[in-house]
This record gives sequence, structure tokens and C-alpha cells, in this order.
Amino acid sequence: IIHVSDLHKKFGDLEVLKGINCDVEPSEVVCVIGPSGSGKSTFLRCLNLLEEITSGDVVIDGQSLTAKDVDINAVRTEIGMVFQQFNLFPHKSVIENIMLAPMKVRKLSRAEARERGVRLLEKVGLAAKADAYPAQLSGGQQQRVAIARALAMEPKMMLFDEPTSALDPELVGEVLAVMKQLALEGMTMVVVTHEMGFAREVGDRVMFMDGGVVVEEGKPEDIFDRPQSARTREFLNKVL
Ligand code: ATP
Ligand code: MG
Repeated sequence: IIHVSDLHKKFGDLEVLKGINCDVEPSEVVCVIGPSGSGKSTFLRCLNLLEEITSGDVVIDGQSLTAKDVDINAVRTEIGMVFQQFNLFPHKSVIENIMLAPMKVRKLSRAEARERGVRLLEKVGLAAKADAYPAQLSGGQQQRVAIARALAMEPKMMLFDEPTSALDPELVGEVLAVMKQLALEGMTMVVVTHEMGFAREVGDRVMFMDGGVVVEEGKPEDIFDRPQSARTREFLNKVL
């Protein structure tokens, strides 16, 4: 469903991605780990053209993102993205945050969008907070709303960029639990994370990036218990 071939990304003279290859199958959960500055966020952002691709290609659900006639808005509606910062609209209530895009983009009626929003809030355990405003919620609750909002577009895949890194430690678990549930339901997910426990337990595959390349990838137990590369071992020694 995601096919990345020889992806290069430069910012001016700085080459941040140096030939990434990666395939993600439907319902697969791929966790991307690696040191700060290794290009993880840039990689994720290239998958929905938040960054322009310098060379190589990304194919999403059969659509090449470098094709001249690509309708990037159409591609993006199939891809939910959740960031470290929750980016909720502060002046809109929780339910309105969720209803907005389905009404605008998917042309749902208010009633349909509200129904979908309520269902998704139940799913992330926040049915009681529908009429609250983002500032009235904890970080973990806000991030769960952000996930519900992304899901409201019924995307075919979800991209997560360090979704728990801005949270107090005691709030991390509730967000990871929602993500784990999504994975179990068969959502295709690419997750940049420092949560090695999550990567091991929920990831079907782990990709270790360093210096703009994929140094090593494989099943979580292989990457964590039998890393082949010295760079992977050194990184894991620091974070585990
Ligand atoms: P972190 O774990 O800290 O989030 P990362 O692996 O996500 O790191 P990126 O954010 O992808 O790393 O950044 C990779 C490199 O690209 C860094 O050297 C960064 O300074 C550079 N970079 C990222 N965005 C830009 C930009 N818009 N313009 C110039 N350089 C950039
Ligand atoms: Mg990053």
C-alpha cells in the first residue's frame, strides 16, 4: 500500500534522505526508530508530500506522488497523520474538531459527522469530552482527540510522528493503548517512535534509520535481540 524506492531528500545542499527503500503492506505496522536528526520525520513527511521529493518515488495505494498529474489532496485524504504536537483547533470544541474535515472534504451532513465523531470519541475513550475545548484536556486526551480526528476521514493508513514524545510519562500509556487497538483492527500504520516497548510489541517490522539511510530493518525480535549492525547496537544500548 506504500512503496518507497530510492527516496532522496535535500534541503539545499544538505542531503537528509539518501536513498530510502521501504514497502508497507496493508494492515502492517512499521515502527521507525533512530537518533535525532536521522531523517525520520522527513521520511514520514515525504509520504504525504508535506516535503517535496528530491528524487526517487513514493507510491501510495497505486498513485505515484511524483507523477505530474498527482492530485495530492486526494492522496492526503487517504492518509491520517498525527504529530508530536496535537494541533487541535483551540477555538473549536472536541466534537467540532472531529466533524470539520468529514463535512468539508467528505461532504458529510452535520448529523452524519456528529454521529461519526461520537462513535470515534467512544473508541478513544473520550465520549464525555465531546463539548470540551482542547485547553480543558490533558495532553494525552488531546492526542487521543487528534487520533479520532484523523480517523474521522476514514483513512487507509495512518502516519504517527512521535505521538507520545510531548506527553508526561503517565499519559503515554493511554495514547499507546489507542494506537495498539487500531493496529489490532488492521489499520496500516507507520509510527516514528522512541517507545521501544511499543515497537517490539505492536510493530510487525522495525526500521532503524541513521544518517538518512535505513541501516537495518526486520522483525522486532531480530532488531532488538539480534541487531546485525554495530550502529543499531550502539543506538539500542543508549535507549534501552
Ligand atoms: P528527531 O528525532 O529529532 O525528530 P528526525 O530523525 O525526525 O529527528 P528530521 O527532522 O527528519 O530528523 O531532520 C533530519 C535533518 O534534516 C536534520 O539535520 C534537520 O536539521 C534537517 N531538516 C529538517 N527539516 C529541515 C528543513 N525544513 N530545512 C532544512 N533542514 C531541515
Ligand atoms: Mg522527528
